[in-house]
Amino acid sequence: MDEKILREGDGFYKVQSNDDYFMSIAVLTAKRSLDPVLKVGSCIADRNDKLVSTGFNDKTPGGASLPWPEKSNNNIDNKRFIVCHAEVTAIVNSKVKDLTGYKIYITHNPCNECSKLIAQCGIKHVIYLHEWKPDQPKYQAARLILQVADCNLRKYQGPLSQFKCKL
Ligand SMILES: [Zn+2]
Repeated sequence: MDEKILREGDGFYKVQSNDDYFMSIAVLTAKRSLDPVLKVGSCIADRNDKLVSTGFNDKTPGGASLPWPEKSNNNIDNKRFIVCHAEVTAIVNSKVKDLTGYKIYITHNPCNECSKLIAQCGIKHVIYLHEWKPDQPKYQAARLILQVADCNLRKYQGPLSQFKCKL
């Protein structure tokens, strides 16, 4: 795996906007994930652009000993059943329970399951760094869920766009 050394001038340390700042936190948080395929990070900001919570894709509590198989002949031996997505962990980790009008920054566009939760929480802004499998039905459904919930979904535009998130 290529490790890119971040230096001043790469954009990472030139945090000038709220988007840059919060997306930097999402990227940093993704590094905590142990998922061998895709590390995803997220953070939630309130209406005053204060950090509320962070999350990364992780196994459920006590699940550290469970494997990370992408697919298996044994149906239950599949990470999809045991991993919480970064958006879920950020929402659950939040000490603030009323997230109405808040923003969530994510290193990747949300799936339909996370979009349901985001919409239910009243989060109104979803900003993502990388597009992940946009043509798959669950990501198409995600866009629809957020659209009808009047939740603004947009791709981050800034210096961090250049970074790959396979950390
Ligand atoms: Zn998800």
